[in-house]
Amino acid sequence: MSKIPPDIDQLALGVLSNDKMLLGKAITLIESTLPSDMKLTDGLLRELMPHTGKSVRIGITGVPGVGKSTFIESFGTHIAAHHKIAVLAIDPSSKKTKGSILGDKTRMTNLATHPNAFIRPSPAGITMGGVAAKTREVMLLCEAAGYEVVIVETVGVGQSETEVYEMVDFFLLLMLAGAGDELQGIKKGILEMADLIAINKADGENKIQTAKAKIQLESALHLFPEPEAGFVTQVLTCSAIENIGIYEIWDTINNFIQRVKESSLFDDRRKKQNLYWFYEYINRQITSSFYNSKIVVEKIGSIKAMVENGKISPQEGGRMLLNLQGTK
Ligand code: GDP
Repeated sequence: MSKIPPDIDQLALGVLSNDKMLLGKAITLIESTLPSDMKLTDGLLRELMPHTGKSVRIGITGVPGVGKSTFIESFGTHIAAHHKIAVLAIDPSSKKTKGSILGDKTRMTNLATHPNAFIRPSPAGITMGGVAAKTREVMLLCEAAGYEVVIVETVGVGQSETEVYEMVDFFLLLMLAGAGDELQGIKKGILEMADLIAINKADGENKIQTAKAKIQLESALHLFPEPEAGFVTQVLTCSAIENIGIYEIWDTINNFIQRVKESSLFDDRRKKQNLYWFYEYINRQITSSFYNSKIVVEKIGSIKAMVENGKISPQEGGRMLLNLQGTK
């Protein structure tokens, strides 16, 4: 059954007027992996690009259970009182039909029904790398639809935090106090990327622990090189459930954005990010066209076996395949 291609001008107008039905349709088109949809996607984005870029882009990460959904529900509702806010998720596990960490629909029930909020789960059925790239395009659509704050949420798994970092103006890491203090399996690189660390669940008996963890973390952060933007990563505590410290976090983000906008840092970061996604796309396409080429599909098995069994070096095997394909 052939489908009727959507009218791009109509979709673009729908997005610009924040018609949620048409925004949803536009997102579905953006998330499509059909080669025949690429031209349509390019056309749509070209129409919308002049209307993008005006939101404050916030990345939020943290291990499962740290309280991301609860935090975004509280934080997002606070913001939605004055601004239009979109929440997007990148879930590296969602490409499998089961095992989605962020995907279930019962999350953020208040925010989901707020007229100023738009929540979209992680695109499914796309390989990692692809998921983040699509989410970034969805973010652009949301900006064109007039969302003033876009939150991109992910879990501390694989590459996804780096990819979120590469698409936001402010990167917030949620942590817990005392949960196996070895920084909870959080890679050191993520601490370095964070513009702010918020220790969540600062309530009840956990309050003292959280205050201690804040001091420990602050002194650990002093050992890190000074961040690019020249702002030392701050540590705050909050309780997403009791709505404590949420306003301070929003305040900190606003101050940061204001300060980086006064210098060239804001634009520099966005320009660098544009190029990150440019190269990321090229690299992904080159890799996929290489592995899908007829000669590589034909020969890779035998060359791989020789590498596996130590008959030839990995480099030589790689060269053989690259030479065959003519890419070198
Ligand atoms: P996520 O996996 O990071 O999205 O975490 P959730 O938001 O689903 O929260 C995991 C659990 O921690 C849930 O049982 C929440 O009720 C609880 N939780 C989240 N935030 C807080 C908080 O600020 N204080 C307390 N005491 N519990 C919280």
